[in-house]
Amino acid sequence: MELFKDKEHCCGCRVCEQICPQSAITMQMDECGFLYPMIDSQKCIDCGLCLKKCSFQNGYKKRKEFEPARSYAARHKEMGTMMKSRSGGAFTAVSDQILMSGGVVYGAGYDSEDRLFRVIHKRAETQEQRNEFRGSKYVQSDLGDVFCQIKKDLAAGKSVLFSGTGCQVGALHTYLGKEYDQLLTVDIVCHGVPSPKIWEDFLKMREQENGGIITSVDFRDKVHYGWKAHRETVWVNEKRISSRLYSKLFYLDVATRPSCFRCIYANKNRPGDITIADFWGHEDAVPGFNADNKGVSLVMVNTQKGYDIWEKAEKDMEIIDCTGYPFRHTNMKRPTKRPDNYEEFWEDYQQFGFDFVIKKYCDYEVGTKAQEISKKAENQTFFGIIKRNKYYLKLKALLKNVKKRFF
Ligand SMILES: Cc1cc2nc3c(=O)[nH]c(=O)nc-3n(C[C@H](O)[C@H](O)[C@H](O)COP(=O)(O)OP(=O)(O)OC[C@H]3O[C@@H](n4cnc5c(N)ncnc54)[C@H](O)[C@@H]3O)c2cc1C
Repeated sequence: MELFKDKEHCCGCRVCEQICPQSAITMQMDECGFLYPMIDSQKCIDCGLCLKKCSFQNGYKKRKEFEPARSYAARHKEMGTMMKSRSGGAFTAVSDQILMSGGVVYGAGYDSEDRLFRVIHKRAETQEQRNEFRGSKYVQSDLGDVFCQIKKDLAAGKSVLFSGTGCQVGALHTYLGKEYDQLLTVDIVCHGVPSPKIWEDFLKMREQENGGIITSVDFRDKVHYGWKAHRETVWVNEKRISSRLYSKLFYLDVATRPSCFRCIYANKNRPGDITIADFWGHEDAVPGFNADNKGVSLVMVNTQKGYDIWEKAEKDMEIIDCTGYPFRHTNMKRPTKRPDNYEEFWEDYQQFGFDFVIKKYCDYEVGTKAQEISKKAENQTFFGIIKRNKYYLKLKALLKNVKKRFF
């Protein structure tokens, strides 16, 4: 049996693997670092369930109950939450409602067994566990067996929130095959998911350059650069190194999963009860709402179920109703375009490795600029600005003179 025609037709959601009654399907990583299902022909009984359950090839049930979707510009009232969240912290406000009612939340976190911050989907019962899901991880998250865990939670009568990319939310609905009143799905507007192998290579490079181990990561460092900028920061043995290398690869789209270029969810018919995104275009839609550049969420409420939860979550947010506003998000109009140099990038990578592609595509010589970038990053912090202030420099010179004369 052929599961998919070519790689653009498989989003790696694992539904076929999870649903197979013979356990004949296993996920295997290809040379680019993406997972694809492989069938063991000895075990396969040709029942066709895997093909029937593939939402990426068969399409998905659109959940649009409101036309247009009820839309809001939203910012969490707590600045601490805002700073930990990618945009306005809408995910925290919504998931808090589920946790407070004794429910469980699923989202993208880090594999605690993996030294190099592998991104996987996880289950959270507490706010502390859920907090790990905050912040966008610009890499494909491995769903593992979370769909199976969700089914068990639902069977036990628990309220469940599942958050993920459109293809992950669509896949969960197909996997379950029926509606559950206690299931709330939240999809994120998605530009495309880069390869986990490239993410791993990037972190290894940072470790080698700095002779230590990665202790923390931030895919988009809002604390030091604000919400609009896109720079990643990693900490090697607590030393902070910020750059625009991994993010550059993300925007070049060269390391993106092939299926993202024909994403069936890149439109306004969202698969989730609630959709969250960065509120690009907020300057015109809600002038002054993001004056401090700490971020704004766009929240689209697509179903009555989503609205019931959102009504409760609203109390934790500053919100402005934007229903009917013509949002400009490209990935709600069409999938990201495959760049012309996509094949060339992967051929280079297979032949010459990560150090070569980071030089060729990001103009970065491994090992040479780490210090400089870190210095540049420091210059933009509060203390960096103080350090360059002329009065500070004069005072420093004066103290130096005093020290020289008297000691
Ligand atoms: C790969 C990727 C591409 C994106 N592209 C766009 C875009 O083009 N335009 C746009 O407006 N917004 C995009 N976003 C969404 C945006 O960055 C924020 O995730 C969203 O606005 C939520 O912000 P928040 O402050 O409400 O939530 P936060 O508290 O920051 O929560 C993040 C949410 O995203 C989920 N998440 C994080 N990483 C992943 C991942 N790798 N896979 C699946 N789910 C994940 C978490 O489970 C959680 O639900 C993208 C996010 C990702 C992960």
